[in-house]
Amino acid sequence: MIRVGIGYDSHRFVAGRPLILAGQTIPHTHGLAGHSDADAVAHAVTDAILGASAAGDIGTLFPDTDEAWRNADSMRLLARATEAVAARGCRVRQVDITIIIERPKIGPHRAAMAAALATVLGIGSGDVGIKAKTNEGMGFIGRGEGIAVMAVATVEG
Ligand code: MG
Repeated sequence: MIRVGIGYDSHRFVAGRPLILAGQTIPHTHGLAGHSDADAVAHAVTDAILGASAAGDIGTLFPDTDEAWRNADSMRLLARATEAVAARGCRVRQVDITIIIERPKIGPHRAAMAAALATVLGIGSGDVGIKAKTNEGMGFIGRGEGIAVMAVATVEG
């Protein structure tokens, strides 16, 4: 059976933190606020694969009240979520991601992000779609206050 999961995440920009997306540090004036490293791409993908296998959600598996996850590398959380999916007899097949961000440009980092996600998920780089959109200047994303990420995953099992 092929199962589909959806994930969404948003984080606020703050000064003084690195911008980390899919485990890649991306040069920018601001990073993202959060209990972990605030990697919104990793978080959205985590929820997508957990959702596809009905294995809960990121907040349940890695609560932000738990000091163990403070400044955590979210790609490691994604690895643990991948294990939770496997424990339910499921296997990730493919993910597709849309990053909604006014700046910086994602294109120069797309290949590295896809490769990193593919490694953690145990799939090929060609099974990781990454697209970036601006919000045309509208709303909190348009004002550069933060970003949002949507992800869809297919899981077999
Ligand atoms: Mg998050």
